[in-house]
Amino acid sequence: MFVDFTEDQLLKLDGITDSSDAMAKIARIKEERQLRLVLGTDHIGVFLSVLVNEALTIGELDQVRTFKSETGCMQCGVQPKDVLFKSGPRKGLVKETMPVEKYRTRSGVSVCRECWSAARIRLTTYLQTVKPKFEWNEVWTPCPYVKSRKVSCKKCGWNGHQHEMLMIFNGWRRYRGQCARCDGRIEFLSDDMSVDYGDWMIVEKANDE
Ligand SMILES: [Zn+2]
Ligand SMILES: [Zn+2]
Repeated sequence: MFVDFTEDQLLKLDGITDSSDAMAKIARIKEERQLRLVLGTDHIGVFLSVLVNEALTIGELDQVRTFKSETGCMQCGVQPKDVLFKSGPRKGLVKETMPVEKYRTRSGVSVCRECWSAARIRLTTYLQTVKPKFEWNEVWTPCPYVKSRKVSCKKCGWNGHQHEMLMIFNGWRRYRGQCARCDGRIEFLSDDMSVDYGDWMIVEKANDE
């Protein structure tokens, strides 16, 4: 295949001495292009790529929060609506301004309710077609990953990760909650295990999860 570089590009190539560094950059560019292809390049796409990048950082797709906004939606332009007095001496004057209901990510990027509905559809496509390494809510589509936190057992001294623990049933849900070595458990009001919420890894779910 013939590749035609511009002079500027050729000069930049000349500066790349470490090829592993170049390969990493190329891989990153490919990844970002794939992301843009699925998520889109409009404001909804930007909103979603912020959400996805946050998820990659914290290991899970964070809950999108709602709030009332005095400003319009960046995507569709919907604005806060003035409600007017219908009768009386102030008829026609502004009674109150209805804010726009918005949905925002952890870092504050937001869209309105209608745009969020559209964003959810794109997000589902992303979760199904791209293999993102983070955990998400099963409401979207079954999640193949689980965030496994570092744990240690105070009863027997075992150290490991949650995904190595035994499956237990507490009456309403099954989860990995029993020490790999003894009967110590992660349970309500139990102090058997200590969980390090800041130290985790993303693993594929086992067949029995
Ligand atoms: Zn909107
Ligand atoms: Zn133990």
